Amino acid sequence: MKLLDTILENALSNLTSVAVAEKEASYSYQDLLDAMDSFASDLTGLEVNKRPVLIFGKNDFLSLAAMLASNLTGRAYIPVDSHTPIERTEMILGAAKPSAIMLTTELDESYQSLFAANPQVVAVNFDRRADFDGRTIDTRAAVSGKDTTYIIYTSGTTGVPKGVAVSHDNLATFTNWMNTAFVKFDKNQFLEQPLYSFDLSIFSIYPSLTTAGTLVSLSREETTNFKLLFERLNSTIINTWISTPSFVDICLLDPSFTQDEHPELRQFIFCGEELTHKTAEKLLKAFPNATVYNTYGPTEATGAISSIEVTPELLNHYDRVPIGRAKPGVTLEILDREIIITGDSVATGYFENSEKTAEAFFIRDGKPAYHTGDAGFFDSDGVLNYNGRIDFQVKFNGFRIELQDIEANLTSLPTVEKALVVPQENAEHKVTALVAVLVAPHDSTLSDRDFTKQLKESLAPLIMDYMMPTKFVYVADFPLNQNGKIDRKAVSETIFNPKGGQA
Ligand code: AMP
Repeated sequence: MKLLDTILENALSNLTSVAVAEKEASYSYQDLLDAMDSFASDLTGLEVNKRPVLIFGKNDFLSLAAMLASNLTGRAYIPVDSHTPIERTEMILGAAKPSAIMLTTELDESYQSLFAANPQVVAVNFDRRADFDGRTIDTRAAVSGKDTTYIIYTSGTTGVPKGVAVSHDNLATFTNWMNTAFVKFDKNQFLEQPLYSFDLSIFSIYPSLTTAGTLVSLSREETTNFKLLFERLNSTIINTWISTPSFVDICLLDPSFTQDEHPELRQFIFCGEELTHKTAEKLLKAFPNATVYNTYGPTEATGAISSIEVTPELLNHYDRVPIGRAKPGVTLEILDREIIITGDSVATGYFENSEKTAEAFFIRDGKPAYHTGDAGFFDSDGVLNYNGRIDFQVKFNGFRIELQDIEANLTSLPTVEKALVVPQENAEHKVTALVAVLVAPHDSTLSDRDFTKQLKESLAPLIMDYMMPTKFVYVADFPLNQNGKIDRKAVSETIFNPKGGQA
């Protein structure tokens, strides 16, 4: 059965239930069907090809309806957050060559001219139709089977984002696992915090839409302003919490984020980065009756593919929270220290990028497999443990970043000769800062501080804001290792040497 059929069936029997609760507005399942149907007609009216549709906007009802509308017409969707810098957006447009762009938010001038170069732009608008009957929605053309359902662009080592193409069946198996293994109660209120452009967002979207749940949608204003965030959390009901550990760390700063104040909050599901022992301990202390899960998986394997329940006993047993056991349909193995994922969750590859696809995806025992780049090991209980990366990808405040992505964009600037970006980690293996170490000779009349300011201005349109290095250090040159390559280890050991210039 197609996911959209399940969503439609669920919506038709729960037309008046709230599908999406934003801070200022709520939308019922009837509204969702109405908007989806109307946006799908906008798209079919364009008579464009079947390439994916780029949805440019915020995390809100309109974007959600536009994503579903694209799938309804048989097209994959590409969610791009409206805070994506302009040149980064242009890179995604260039790589994706979408059939159409659906705008779900207002644009400033620079974006208007960027999108104006694309002939197929639809600015969607939702006007409730009193007489709308969702039963007329026809899902025959909707994505199914191995069709790509969405493409999520993630940091790439070359400096250009790469699009992970996830099939309908990948998403269906993930949703099915979520609904059977974790989310066992009806009319569930799900926290919807991560941007749609991150695959953590599918943890709430699809379980909610297939079980008459409500997506409690946080806006960017709320997630970036603690006061607004705490106010919203204290004035809304959430049953299932899904976020990165970094996000719950912020919420735990609010003394009222406790079981006593939120007795209805029954489940926490984490993914996307290491759940530290400290965070897990703090959370279990604040919410002793809630069930907490640590799940693990890359975008390339659709959401998550392993999980474990985190209890006080588990924390007593392990110094580092393990990542658990595989979901049904997936095999996890360690080959040369690296975690290899095989099975029905492994995505089709990087969209129209056969070179990158061949580097990371392969066939194992006749099934799709993926090199995660994560180091791991199985302990004597058969539980998988995470042990850092074997490459230069990091998680910083929950965001996935290839250090080479920042480096490539830094060296694309005429004033930078060589660049290395070095992560600083705390004792809990959490990245606390990104330090850019640069060979960038500049006029002695220009202080490092002023040079850094100019550099940051030139770098900002090329990278996401969360990729901006926290510190800039200038050196004469980089040390080389025995193979004649830049010695990253030596650089990271010396960056805090007070003799190096810092700004
Ligand atoms: P993303 O594609 O953004 O979901 O990032 C995937 C990467 O995040 C994985 O390859 C891991 O490096 C890291 N990651 C995800 N979940 C966990 C976890 N539970 N523990 C440790 N690292 C994780």
